[in-house]
Amino acid sequence: MKKIAIISGKGGVGKSMLASSLAILFSQDKHKIVAVDCDVDAPNLAVWLNEIGNWDEKRKISVSEKPLIDNNKINSAQAQKCVPKCKFKALIVENEKLKLNYFLCEGCGACEFFCPQGAIKMKAVKNGEIKIKNTKYNFPLVSGHLFPGETGSGKVVSEIKQQAEKFKKIIDKINPDEIQLNLPIRPSGVKLSLPSRKTIEMVSKILGKNAKAVVKFSIKKKGGKAYGNLKKDIFNFLKVRPATLEDLTSSLNANSTEIVKQLYWFLERKKIKESRSKGTKYFVIND
Ligand code: SF4
Repeated sequence: MKKIAIISGKGGVGKSMLASSLAILFSQDKHKIVAVDCDVDAPNLAVWLNEIGNWDEKRKISVSEKPLIDNNKINSAQAQKCVPKCKFKALIVENEKLKLNYFLCEGCGACEFFCPQGAIKMKAVKNGEIKIKNTKYNFPLVSGHLFPGETGSGKVVSEIKQQAEKFKKIIDKINPDEIQLNLPIRPSGVKLSLPSRKTIEMVSKILGKNAKAVVKFSIKKKGGKAYGNLKKDIFNFLKVRPATLEDLTSSLNANSTEIVKQLYWFLERKKIKESRSKGTKYFVIND
């Protein structure tokens, strides 16, 4: 993976404009790219790409800790002693209680360390957000920001980079001529949550034009007559993935005796074979 970092010590010099232009040009040139906005204090790559809002994924993250004060464990005199331990002037005593100025606190943990009464405990706070979307230019954008007044921008940046690395690993590892996103529910009868259409489209776009989602099978209605195409349906199903008798019965909504008959027909002609995994019998296409 090649990484291009666009950096400057000064704001307003055109970093985002250059980054967005390069991203679009590279993707038009058929390069598989991931655009990453690491400016977590003022992310605006999405603005330049006209991709504000409608994020496919948003995740709150915790990048620093803040002190939690238990005033039951500390009296006014003891609280006064804690105040000077904070070099950021974030601790004050008010109405005989030790209080925290959240916005001045840098989360350094010194107060917890020095409090002789153990009245201060550092606690992780959700103070940043990571957002991911697939852009109309056909590449994913990973962005993130720190909530106002929060500290820990370095950690948000490293989280964003990790997300981007994940995408790129998928793109780099999978470079086949054709990709099938195989999405039937399995094992049979167990309800798994299927990805939304939006997610499927996003994954398809990331993997490139060769990816196609395989989500449909020929399903017969209950009580349907004769299994004229059952043979074909079973074979087509097994071409996509191995299946148990239960998988086939419920997915094709057919009588299990009929399915067994057809499976024997295929087994006798060595078109399919049986395979066992963790004690379960699967039928697979005989290569
Ligand atoms: S964590 Fe650090 S900055 Fe925050 S109140 Fe304690 S000593 Fe002050």
